[in-house]
Amino acid sequence: MTTRFTSRSPVTGEPVGEHPVHGPEEVRAAVDRAGTAAGHWAACGWAGRRARLLAWKRSLARRTDAFASLISAETGKPVHDARAEVLLTLVHLDWAARNARRVLGRRRVPAGLLSVHQRALLAYRPLGVIGVIGPWNYPLYTPMGSIGYALAAGNAVVFKPSELTPGVGELLAQSLADAVPDHAGLLQTVTGHGPTGEALARSGVDKVAFTGSPGTARKVAAVCADRLTPLLAECGGKDAVLVDASADLDEAADAIVWGAMANAGQTCAGVERVYAVASVHADLCTRIVHRVRALRPGPTADAAYGPLTLPAQLTTVERHMKEALASGAHALYGGPESLRPPYVHPVVLVDVPEDSPVMREETFGPLVTVNAVRDLDEAVARANAGAYALGAAVFTAGRRTGLAVAERLDCGAVSVNSVLGFAAVPALPFGGSGDSGYGRIHGAEGLRSFAAPRSVTVRRFRPPVDLTSFAGPRRRAERAIELGRRLHARI
Ligand code: NAD
Repeated sequence: MTTRFTSRSPVTGEPVGEHPVHGPEEVRAAVDRAGTAAGHWAACGWAGRRARLLAWKRSLARRTDAFASLISAETGKPVHDARAEVLLTLVHLDWAARNARRVLGRRRVPAGLLSVHQRALLAYRPLGVIGVIGPWNYPLYTPMGSIGYALAAGNAVVFKPSELTPGVGELLAQSLADAVPDHAGLLQTVTGHGPTGEALARSGVDKVAFTGSPGTARKVAAVCADRLTPLLAECGGKDAVLVDASADLDEAADAIVWGAMANAGQTCAGVERVYAVASVHADLCTRIVHRVRALRPGPTADAAYGPLTLPAQLTTVERHMKEALASGAHALYGGPESLRPPYVHPVVLVDVPEDSPVMREETFGPLVTVNAVRDLDEAVARANAGAYALGAAVFTAGRRTGLAVAERLDCGAVSVNSVLGFAAVPALPFGGSGDSGYGRIHGAEGLRSFAAPRSVTVRRFRPPVDLTSFAGPRRRAERAIELGRRLHARI
């Protein structure tokens, strides 16, 4: 008999829903069904897939309230934030559906002088079945960065949502089944805890797209290594914002406070560290404190943000704050009294030693550090020191300076004069390196992540010198090779 587990509201502890714990056999059966669905889906063609995915998108848009209220119930975030999450999801699904053919469809590429007799064609084919393992902080938007793009590339998907947000996962699969009834099994959700995710990684899927913490990513990578199953890993971040002396400090403070506190700081590319040039550090801090003072977390619809969704995360926030304070940091706003489970009120720390855990590990709470630096060079060096490399932002009056700094930052995405600007542009790939993982979702790269290139040549005529034949005179081939060699020695 299948066991079940209960998802609970992080606000009240009340049950939100009951879901099966899917074991290896059930996961395997879902992957088998997905294999059949993938065949039909691939045969459906670009136009067929685009039409169906856009129909799904329209139906998701119409069901925004149902999704938003379930996201809010399972994560505790205000409905307003959940509605914004649905909108972001729609924007990405729309882009993936409309651009898949342009990015992945067959096209001619130049064959080059040596192969002038060939027509060279490049096409991308779907991988088959993608196993998507998702987190709880953006339970729709984040996994859909893989699911939407994988489907648009012609694959079927088996999705294992976080055990904290299984209902959103089930509703998602149901919504596709409702909108696209002629493709049963195209998106299936399996629910459970870590072992269900492990079973999916082990099941023989053609690729795993994992989003979660680097520790879990390492375990998933080890499982994938058994079968050489490719893995895309979207892990955490410790994103820095760099503030130049020329920056508009009101704009910078506004963006920093939102980037650090929205969603209770539970954003992989949220703002966790700020490095401000010393001459504006005090001014910036005043503006930040002025803004956080007005923020009220809580259960109501007008709250600035909700609770920590994962109760255990409170220990990390507390440890980071206390170790920083013990090692010489100052709390400019908030402190230990800010921890009022399940909520954490904003915390702003300054003068934080760079080797403190709060500067090196992902905090994932509404806590931001604001340190002074000599100049932007020092800011870049500090931002780049660390194991994570996901996103960053720079505030400066000079757009050229902004772009120059962006190029020196060790990360996958940078916003100039805003935070998280890249997340809402579907054409831009998203992902990091180091402990932030590898591979990309979103954009053309996000589509290619779920497809394999296939190269084809079609011979147009017999070449005067054929290097792939024993038939022609050897001397003629030698002359051609020598001619080519000389050419390449000069150009
Ligand atoms: P987590 O690593 O605890 O869990 C992620 C998923 O992995 C869950 O579905 C979980 O059930 C599953 N899992 C757990 N053990 C497993 C195992 N051994 N094998 C396979 N699957 C297993 O992460 P979380 O707490 O759900 O999410 C928060 C983390 O996700 C943060 O670090 C955050 O920064 C990161 N995140 C990254 C991005 C991004 O795009 N880079 C986006 C959102 C969240």
